[in-house]
Amino acid sequence: MGLIKLDDPVSRIKSVGDRWTTKLKNLGIETIRDLLYHFPVRYEDFSEMYKIGDLIPRQEATIQGIVEEIDSRRSWKRNLLITEATISDDSGSIRAVWFNQPYIKTILRPGTLANFSGRVSGSGEIPRTDGVNAGGYLSNPTYEPIRNEEVATKHTARIVPVYPETKGLTSKGLRNMVTIALENLVKIPEPIPLPILNGENLPGINQAIQNIHFPPKLDDATDAKRRFAFENLFLLQVYNLKQKIHLARSASIDLPTDLPYVKSLVDRLPFPLTFSQKKSLWEILKDTGKKTPMNRLLQGDVGSGKTVVAAIAALNAVKAGHQVAFMAPTSILAAQHYNTFLRLFGDFTGGVALVTSGESEVFYGHDLTSKVSKQQVIGEIKRNKIKIAIGTHALIQKEVNFPDVALVIVDEQHRFGVKQRDELLKNKSAGLVPHFLSMSATPIPRTLSLTLFGDLDLSVISEMPKNRKKIITKVVTPEERKNTYAFIRDEIKSGRQTFVICPRIDKPDETPDILWQVKAVKEEYRKLSQDIFPDLKTAMLHGKMKMNEKEKTMKDFLDRKIDILVSTSVIEVGIDVPNASIIMIEGADRFGLAQLYQFRGRVGRGEHQSYCFLLTDSESKKANQRLKTIEKAKSGFELAEYDLKMRGPGEFLGQSQTGMPDLAMKALQNPDLIKRTRELAFETLKEDVHLKKYPALRVRLSLFEKNIHWE
Ligand code: ADP
Ligand code: MG
Repeated sequence: MGLIKLDDPVSRIKSVGDRWTTKLKNLGIETIRDLLYHFPVRYEDFSEMYKIGDLIPRQEATIQGIVEEIDSRRSWKRNLLITEATISDDSGSIRAVWFNQPYIKTILRPGTLANFSGRVSGSGEIPRTDGVNAGGYLSNPTYEPIRNEEVATKHTARIVPVYPETKGLTSKGLRNMVTIALENLVKIPEPIPLPILNGENLPGINQAIQNIHFPPKLDDATDAKRRFAFENLFLLQVYNLKQKIHLARSASIDLPTDLPYVKSLVDRLPFPLTFSQKKSLWEILKDTGKKTPMNRLLQGDVGSGKTVVAAIAALNAVKAGHQVAFMAPTSILAAQHYNTFLRLFGDFTGGVALVTSGESEVFYGHDLTSKVSKQQVIGEIKRNKIKIAIGTHALIQKEVNFPDVALVIVDEQHRFGVKQRDELLKNKSAGLVPHFLSMSATPIPRTLSLTLFGDLDLSVISEMPKNRKKIITKVVTPEERKNTYAFIRDEIKSGRQTFVICPRIDKPDETPDILWQVKAVKEEYRKLSQDIFPDLKTAMLHGKMKMNEKEKTMKDFLDRKIDILVSTSVIEVGIDVPNASIIMIEGADRFGLAQLYQFRGRVGRGEHQSYCFLLTDSESKKANQRLKTIEKAKSGFELAEYDLKMRGPGEFLGQSQTGMPDLAMKALQNPDLIKRTRELAFETLKEDVHLKKYPALRVRLSLFEKNIHWE
């Protein structure tokens, strides 16, 4: 096969054909690197071989035996095909049972010698005599026929990795691919500078990548994990520091604060700004007044009023004579910001535009709003006639060119990658880097933000506007479900709308119904629209829908064409539906508290009393207690701190949002390691800011940059 490189596509592995590449893609795996960095979630220790006669109930173990007989039958439960085998060695015999894997019969023919690793289920003792015991059996054991005793086993009789799986691709399949990749892999260059590697007593990259998949001992896996956690934190610190150094050496346009103007804008608002809005605004204005680029994150709970702060900063930039680009992750959000802007600052005549893939509009003051073609708007931006452009990705397309952009604002930036951010920054006027403000409602504890976003300065809006009604929040027990539906019906009858959130889109196919308890959008949608509320208008929304379908559904909901919207967490991002008064969250115990808090922020945005119902089937006292903290919580940050303590950072940030592997997320809780990696990053860059001495680190860093999507 020849040697495999990290950047090769997974199809380099001989057995990986088209069928597998699509499945691997579902797991985000396209290259050998992706495959090898798809780390196990846990290991099963089957390293010790047992005699069948020595097995005890509930133990996990590997046995080696001969298949005596094997047969399949349908069970009375729908769609469950049971394959049952009898396996024996010289100490006894035991049954093995598999579900819905009929092909096993063709692999484990009677007479086959194989290893079986798994858990002994059932209650009965296993006799030391030959008879098969009806009580104890191996449930869904991993099997591996032994053809040649010399070849090392992959699935049994060792410490076995268990991976995040996808439909049709199990850990077993992944193990096979990882084994081939590791056997043929070109040596990976070490990205961590050697003195640091040795000083911290970490295993080298090649050993670590081998051991994280197939550790000879569990301790070896622990060392490998420690290494990768360190590597990620170290890269993060190097990245942050490099950004800081880079920005400190760049120049941008200074936008002096026109105090009387800013004051007049604030005075004209229909509400007083909160203290932290004023403070944040002041921090931003101070930064944008400098000749070095601002790089600031404005954090605040949903509804805390970030937009108005950003809008005033934008107006000040225009007053100083320059352009502003304001980006949102979806068309709906962009339109919402545009409308908010017009509502609050309707007498602005400098030229505001809305630019999304679907619509474009310009506004030069009252009565001058017009729908114009996108081409026209782009032309106006280019001719510097539009001073504030509000839009989506459409703003960073090649043909859009700001001749004089001095400030870039990005809302809910966890939807934007670093690359996109760079594209915005490419719009340099005379080599000057625009000031950059990102806004986020993701409540991240301060300690964590400082590490994750060490390259950004932080402004926090920590209080809500005073006029808000408190959202009535309640943990609902299964017995109260019926009453809750009745309540929802009443609210809808009086004109309101409801969100229903489920943890998943779909039920995984391979799971028998009886074992599946998590609420899924598709199922819940069917149930609500057909059985519970057949007379109401129900729709669903989830991440697998196309962008325009999602936007259409959201727009219909906004236009009150839909009463109940059943959705996954995709509605998390800041959409304002003032008429929605109820959010009902299924499987609430499966979400992070901060995330639940975010969901709740979807309601209570209009004048109506709003409600948040948290449903859980979990009987665990701890889970319910955890949910109850939301009833009392004053801010998302408070909950984030609580969750950080209880569950660790990965749980409320989620890997997909940060691009950080779980183990690095866990390491974020380790203040000593954070401090240590920062020091080491500083030392490394102080000596060699362009990392000339460390080409492997440079390469690794550029990959790292590509993969971070956090805000
Ligand atoms: P977010 O921080 O979630 O982006 P928005 O900026 O969308 O919040 O603000 C939510 C709503 O609150 C908007 O309608 C906005 O006009 C209003 N708002 C903002 N600041 C205040 C305030 N200080 N007092 C009252 N209402 C405010
Ligand atoms: Mg917002």
